[in-house]
Amino acid sequence: MDSVGVAAAAPDAGPGPAWQSKCPWGAPSTTSISCSLADVMSEQLAKELQLEEENAAFPEVVAAAEGPFITGENIDTSSDLMLAQMLQMEFDREYDAQLRREEKKINGDSKVSISFENYRKVHPYDSDSSEDEVDWQDTRHDPYRADKPTTTPRRGFIGKGKDITTKHDEVVCGRKNTARMENFAPEFQVGDGIGMDLKLSNQVFNALKQHAYSEERRSARLHEKKEHSTAEKAVDPKTRLLLYKMVNSGMLETITGCISTGKESVVFHAYGGNATEDKVIPPECAIKVFKTTLNEFKNRDKYIKDDYRFKDRFSKLNPRKIIRMWAEKEMHNLTRMQNAGIPCPQVVILKKHVLVMSFIGQDQVPAPKLKDVTLSSEDMKKAYYQILNMMQQLYRECNLVHADLSEYNMLWHDGKVWLIDVSQSVDPTHPHGLEFLFRDCRNVSQFFQKGGVAEALNERELFNAVSGLNITADNEVDFQAEIEALEKMNEDHVQNHGKKLSTFSSDGDPPIYDE
Ligand code: ADP
Ligand code: MN
Repeated sequence: MDSVGVAAAAPDAGPGPAWQSKCPWGAPSTTSISCSLADVMSEQLAKELQLEEENAAFPEVVAAAEGPFITGENIDTSSDLMLAQMLQMEFDREYDAQLRREEKKINGDSKVSISFENYRKVHPYDSDSSEDEVDWQDTRHDPYRADKPTTTPRRGFIGKGKDITTKHDEVVCGRKNTARMENFAPEFQVGDGIGMDLKLSNQVFNALKQHAYSEERRSARLHEKKEHSTAEKAVDPKTRLLLYKMVNSGMLETITGCISTGKESVVFHAYGGNATEDKVIPPECAIKVFKTTLNEFKNRDKYIKDDYRFKDRFSKLNPRKIIRMWAEKEMHNLTRMQNAGIPCPQVVILKKHVLVMSFIGQDQVPAPKLKDVTLSSEDMKKAYYQILNMMQQLYRECNLVHADLSEYNMLWHDGKVWLIDVSQSVDPTHPHGLEFLFRDCRNVSQFFQKGGVAEALNERELFNAVSGLNITADNEVDFQAEIEALEKMNEDHVQNHGKKLSTFSSDGDPPIYDE
């Protein structure tokens, strides 16, 4: 520690005693430094200096041009938790490598081999998730249908004859309840109860459980607040760790940088890594991170609140899960589109609120949006017919209305149009589905009419061409009124019959799920 502060603070009392001139460090310098001991010792100052240094070393804004964002070596290590987790991962990886070596040594060329698989620590896309976390594995099936009721177990008892013990047995139940306290969050003090032969009644257990959960939520809330404040620019530490894991597992090679920061998501570019047994990773990937700051999503309520596919789930979920649901929804919608052969990004993996898909573009340069590209009149016409075709496919084969279709969400790549950004897409029978479709049609018509495509249908014609409906109103106001009347009719039908049956399709074919 610099002693200047102490020296400067010493009283200036004329020539000092003899020992002072002999002082091996020489006489105190008289340069006045306006910095007190308190300042020098100040933790605040130290922190500020460190921060300054760090900022100089790791500029906060990540751009593709500034070199890789996450490579496995250079990751932000400002959070202790993150550092610990990363070290643990590194340790686990080394442990597994050692295990593999031993496995190989033991097995040699033997035909019968022993597997250490179960002792491994790192599994390819292992997650540290608790049960409430949505992962690819949990959501492979399209969840936007009503949940099937879970069947009750057939046997609710153990033993035979008069020794039968049912799950309602008070002692068994009490012990079980005590053991179940282990599932509470680690911060929750349950004392020695688990070790003792304590029997908790259901009532006491339930009260405890309630309390444990609300405590957990409260601490999570406090935690989140802290994290979000530092996460405005790029991504929060938890997301960083998720991204780091993807690199660490070898699925991604490098995350090069950010290609877009929107209100609701941040999109990164990455080079794909090694293929796994069941998955080939594209050479270039786009990573869409749905923002976990909740404000932006509030105004999206109307897309899901009224969506019958969500109704059951929406009410049960906390905001964090709803955001994951957007990512999940985008994944399922992209998959449907892929199956119908519509040009769109291919899903690679979904991890919580992070969706990895194939990159539309080349060499880190994303394909331009339709609004940013100048097409020849021939290409413009080609693009128009392609979009008309895609809108029909989307509606009829995928049973979807894009709901945010415009020149901003269509990319021009490889001589054709690619559709992106489908997290908000809805079922045509969504209470506002037809209104969304009409809005999409208006955007598309206007864009191509302005772009000089003489063949472009007007918005009402386009709407009919896509939906197969035959709304005859010749002005916008009446047309919209008819759309709303149709939606209302469908809703009433749902209310009365409790079942979705489309009244939209003119050929009487209800848009049912094709999966
Ligand atoms: P937002 O909700 O922020 O509009 P988008 O899905 O539209 O999210 O993505 C934002 C931008 O990121 C897009 O306009 C596009 O430029 C880029 N982008 C998104 N996905 C991809 C992809 N798969 N390939 C290339 N660029 C992409
Ligand atoms: Mn977009």
